[in-house]
Amino acid sequence: MIIDAHTHLFSPEVIADRTRYTTRDSFFDFLYRNPKARIASAAELIAAMDAAGVDQSIVAGWAWQNNDVCIEQNDWLIEIARQHPNRLRALCTVQPNAGDAAIREFRRCIESGMIGAGELNADGQNFRLDEPGFLNLARAAIELRAPLMLHTNEPVGHAYPGKGQLPLAAIYALVKTLPELRLVLAHWGGGYPFYELMPEVRAASKNIFYDTAASPLLYAPEIFRAVANIVGAEKILFGSDFPLILYPKRQKEPDLRPFLDQVRAVGLSAEELAMVLEGNAERVFGDW
Ligand SMILES: [Zn+2]
Repeated sequence: MIIDAHTHLFSPEVIADRTRYTTRDSFFDFLYRNPKARIASAAELIAAMDAAGVDQSIVAGWAWQNNDVCIEQNDWLIEIARQHPNRLRALCTVQPNAGDAAIREFRRCIESGMIGAGELNADGQNFRLDEPGFLNLARAAIELRAPLMLHTNEPVGHAYPGKGQLPLAAIYALVKTLPELRLVLAHWGGGYPFYELMPEVRAASKNIFYDTAASPLLYAPEIFRAVANIVGAEKILFGSDFPLILYPKRQKEPDLRPFLDQVRAVGLSAEELAMVLEGNAERVFGDW
């Protein structure tokens, strides 16, 4: 079995009328005002999963700035996961700055079958990890036993739209404050795994996991072996960032196959590969 732990979907309303949302959300506008920025339907995701032999996807919406838009999109994601019970499991998005309304929505989503929250984006949604809005949400996540998936990115390297400024130190401060919080840091944690070589960081980061979303656009394939050596393969979740085009030089349409082929060839043992492709996502999102 293969689980893709990081995909994005938008409701048919967003697909039909993108401008209705770009005018309400400056972060969405920044990344999606270009009609070439891809938005996939659930049918397209399932077709790509079928073609690549992916059994299940964990679906995130978008890190909307407005909590009411979050609620509207969460409603649709709850429904689409119910329609595809064996194929899709969904994460909710909330706006941490919305305070009690965000906590209420988070609770409603988990009670409606969603398996966590994400992909939250501190830069895109304008929140800080050390402010009450986010900290209260993180406390609710612990109480609800629901992981948070957080966008992180490398502080160095090439620029691209959506590359944010969230400092790795803020993540370390967060896990020191709330060590029980189960956190999935997207895009390899923006380099955070390296610091798990420091004993105190490793000890504080027991409940941090890393997904591989967009990896081919960011890192050489050796990152798989390198991070597995540092933190252990049990902390790595395969995620694609579908419908992102991962190999723009040779891909026109989203396709999960080339990345999966790459992952199978990065030098992980069969046991490690099984953890990365399936077991870790099952455990992190299921068994808490
Ligand atoms: Zn991301």
